[in-house]
Amino acid sequence: MVKKLLNFLHRHKHIRRILFGTTLLLLMVFIATRIYYSLTPQMNVILISIDTLRPDHMGVYGYARNTTPNIDAFAKNATVFTQAYTVIPMTEPSFTALLTGKSPFNTRVITNGGIPVSSNVPTLATILKKVNYITATFTTGIYPKAIDLGRGFDTQEFYQYKYYSSKNNSEYYTEGDNRTYDNLIQHAVNWLHNNRKTKFFLWVHLLDPHAPYIPPRNIVCKFLTKSECQHVSKMTQVQIETLRAQYQQCQEKKVPPEVVSIMRALYDAEILNADRLEGELLNQLKKDDNDKKTVVVIYGDHGEGFDHNYYFNHREVLYNSAVHIPLIIKDPEISHSGTESILLQNIDILPTLLDLLHVSKKDYLFDGKSFASLFSNNPLSQLRLFLHKREIYASNSTWTKFSVSDGAYSYIYSLPGSCRLNGQAEELYNIVLDPGEERNLITGMPEVAARMKNDLFNYLSRYNLPQATPINKNENAATHEKALQDIKGFAY
Ligand SMILES: [Zn+2]
Repeated sequence: MVKKLLNFLHRHKHIRRILFGTTLLLLMVFIATRIYYSLTPQMNVILISIDTLRPDHMGVYGYARNTTPNIDAFAKNATVFTQAYTVIPMTEPSFTALLTGKSPFNTRVITNGGIPVSSNVPTLATILKKVNYITATFTTGIYPKAIDLGRGFDTQEFYQYKYYSSKNNSEYYTEGDNRTYDNLIQHAVNWLHNNRKTKFFLWVHLLDPHAPYIPPRNIVCKFLTKSECQHVSKMTQVQIETLRAQYQQCQEKKVPPEVVSIMRALYDAEILNADRLEGELLNQLKKDDNDKKTVVVIYGDHGEGFDHNYYFNHREVLYNSAVHIPLIIKDPEISHSGTESILLQNIDILPTLLDLLHVSKKDYLFDGKSFASLFSNNPLSQLRLFLHKREIYASNSTWTKFSVSDGAYSYIYSLPGSCRLNGQAEELYNIVLDPGEERNLITGMPEVAARMKNDLFNYLSRYNLPQATPINKNENAATHEKALQDIKGFAY
């Protein structure tokens, strides 16, 4: 049979030529397709961020309470980063750093409502838009458009924080109409379904754990003791918020442990609600059979203080409780899963994502460094990773506190007028053995302290820092007053 075919081809020269040409063409198409697919991003991206979420309050990071069942289940097949930090523990500057890959030391975006990022700076959305992604953002608590981070999004939906509604058992209403917070997430879920056949980037931001700690009524007692539950059930939302707010910020004296216990439990119930909504998004992704075509990033912008001398807030301090953030990444193209302890900051996430998506970085300048080599089996890549970052630097939102960490020790320097613990200007903690940072080693380990202080001040000198900046003490009081006005009269 083969012999007959060969004889036939030998006799018919033109058929031979057609066959050869067709094979060559098919081969070229095959190679071109392979190159196209290796150079062109094909994966969707979902960024789900939860405001004020401490990793040590999540099951996946070892928390005893069952606050994050959906995230825990998802994380089983993902990479969980245990040493991810924000460069600044405040919402708008933290997201600016995440979405631009640029450090606030460079951009000077260090406070909410301060200078926004320049409209010339590329963001994750504008970069992905250039490579033909359909983009959308559904947020509450942060309005991307107002801080010049809305660029590049085709669809933007923002809900203003209002109050808890016992009628709808939903925490947030938007301005001017009756849409609930759950509606916002439902809209994001619908968008996900409607765009299931396109290449998309979706960013959803959930505000739940941010103060005031007022979870939906059906879970308000979830983590309270029986007596705490009886006590809280008799309180109005204004009373709960007043109880929290009288202790927020820097405290000279210890906050009563029973108040901390109640606030922690309410904060945890807020996390549970955010996890429920996050679960709805992840479920939709699976239902649409898009979970194998989507890189998912679960992220927190900063933590929250429940200890030291700083309670029920973030922004002003640089303890682990404020700067340590959750980061979980799942890329279906790679089989990597489990925990990773590489030292990284939120500015590193954008360049990493671009590498994972095969988007060229050559036109962009980031302060962050990609850690995508973590997912490679190449020994040279692994070596690059080893050299990734020896030290990371952070500041608070008034540039009155600065810190350096090498993953083992954290050194914090506080200017006069900032929230100093027992009046101390310098603090040194072993964050491996003492993650709660309870034992200040500043006098016990003078050599480590001197080395880190030297590194920190060398780094800061590049930015003409430190410079004393006046603190606007009235700002927090005004924010609190507004919150009380918003929730007035809405009892559980
Ligand atoms: Zn925030």
